[in-house]
Amino acid sequence: MGQKTTNRRLFLQSAASASALAATHSTFGATATLTPAAGSGPMPHRPLGATGEQVPILHLGTSQRLDPVYDKVMHRCLKSGISWFDTALSYGWGASHSAIANFLEQTKARQTMWLTSKSGSGSPKGLAKALDEALTELKTDYLDIFLMHGINDEDRLGKAFLAAGNRFRQSGKTRFFGFSCHDGNVAELLNKAAKVGGIDVILFRYNFRRYGDLALNKAIDACHKAGIGLLAMKSMGSVPASLESVVQFRSENFTLGQAKLKSIWADERISSVVSEMDSVQRVRENVSAAKTQRNLTAQESHQLNRLAALTAQYACNGCSHLCEKTAGGDVAIADSLRFLMYHECYDGKSDRAKELYGALPAKARQYSAEQLAAAAAVCPQGIDIAARMAQAQAVLG
Ligand code: SF4
Repeated sequence: MGQKTTNRRLFLQSAASASALAATHSTFGATATLTPAAGSGPMPHRPLGATGEQVPILHLGTSQRLDPVYDKVMHRCLKSGISWFDTALSYGWGASHSAIANFLEQTKARQTMWLTSKSGSGSPKGLAKALDEALTELKTDYLDIFLMHGINDEDRLGKAFLAAGNRFRQSGKTRFFGFSCHDGNVAELLNKAAKVGGIDVILFRYNFRRYGDLALNKAIDACHKAGIGLLAMKSMGSVPASLESVVQFRSENFTLGQAKLKSIWADERISSVVSEMDSVQRVRENVSAAKTQRNLTAQESHQLNRLAALTAQYACNGCSHLCEKTAGGDVAIADSLRFLMYHECYDGKSDRAKELYGALPAKARQYSAEQLAAAAAVCPQGIDIAARMAQAQAVLG
């Protein structure tokens, strides 16, 4: 019997016995509380590639719904040393920018904080228009970082887009330019960015599930050497809490969520982690983890590795160039599984997950059993793609 089969059996047995217990766990799967003294003092900063800037190692992602009148989470972040806010034209159902504009007005702290925004436009002209829209909506005259949002095509690092990035910087509308990517050929995109120049910052999917990926590590090295600032997102590598509880994470120092963050900060090549913090409690936990000098023990790291191994079959890494290419046609496997993860793992994101799934072209949700079987055969995570796609259709369709 192979290791994978053994693990799967162990996992399923453990999952069944843990499911009842999981109902009492937060999505952080916390089994530890921090000592009151842990994580006080200033927010640590790191260099952002070769930009010459020092940035906080933690910043707030705002794709959750923000309070348009007074957002407690953003205010708590700023008071706690998180002076950097990541948004996009599409975030918060289009309302994130206006809520942040209100926050800027309330705090009068624009000059001391950082703003990232993004656009998914597929043309330089569209990006220019989107940048102007972002500035208008945010009621500011510059961004700190403007990113091409969720790219998966190496052509987006061609001359026309890089020249547009130069124009944006020269105009003063953004200080730095780059891209975000969470699906498809992340390693290829990073490698190309390191070669072509003109990219200051990359925001990419990176968490405890990816540390053994050799191709990705080489690509991260190439970018780090090229002076590109690297930001990690999807830091929780989430699967439903009922599955995470299988490992019964034990630590006297960290909650599971904090341990996941600490594991990213252990990588000095990463300048900062963007984290969606949907409550003041979550801000407290994450800030405390950022500020404590304590590092993960070998035992804690081992538990994360075990969690990654045992839940791999439920954690899509977004490498759509593998499964979707093999499946053929237009079926959107990685996006469907990502939206399913939003539904299963994030409180309050179910409606958004349904909206995103519903916005996929009809042909992206159509497939045959043969296509999905072929896709599953090349999935490095061993995901039962047919079952998960059926689940996505059942709960999001
Ligand atoms: S289903 Fe598997 S192959 Fe497809 S994107 Fe997810 S992890 Fe990659």
